[in-house]
Amino acid sequence: MSERTLVLVKPDGVERGLVGEVIARIERKGLKLAAMELRTADRATAEQHYAEHDGKPFYNDLVDFITGGPLVALVVEGVRAIPAFRQLAGGTDPVEKATPGTIRGDFGLEVQYNLVHGSDSAESAEREIKIWFPNL
Ligand code: ADP
Ligand code: MG
Repeated sequence: MSERTLVLVKPDGVERGLVGEVIARIERKGLKLAAMELRTADRATAEQHYAEHDGKPFYNDLVDFITGGPLVALVVEGVRAIPAFRQLAGGTDPVEKATPGTIRGDFGLEVQYNLVHGSDSAESAEREIKIWFPNL
């Protein structure tokens, strides 16, 4: 059964020229792109997206970071797309958690600048796709 997940190539990934690398890994895994857009997120969008982290010590820096330059938002589709992209991304901390072979493990050093976002559950995916692609 196919499902959809919301993926972001965060501003650090765009700045470092890793958009193609991320998309190549998504496609090689067998997942499909259902939507894709390069854009700079406004504060309201970023705050909605990261609402679960409101009040945490890293929240303000996170919103600044995610609105600080262009990002690529994608809807990715396929069998088990939600956990499959989380597997491709690797753990949140690119050094302590993500293993080599994952996007974060291969390209990241710092927990904030971990290159990609992927929805963590079916509920999150539905909520996040509505935020980034209200017309989909
Ligand atoms: P994930 O992106 O793996 O789902 P979280 O939802 O826990 O991780 O956190 C959202 C984002 O916030 C992370 O991807 C990362 O960019 C940032 N972040 C998480 N924890 C920290 C932290 N301790 N310090 C700085 N930034 C953090
Ligand atoms: Mg998360």
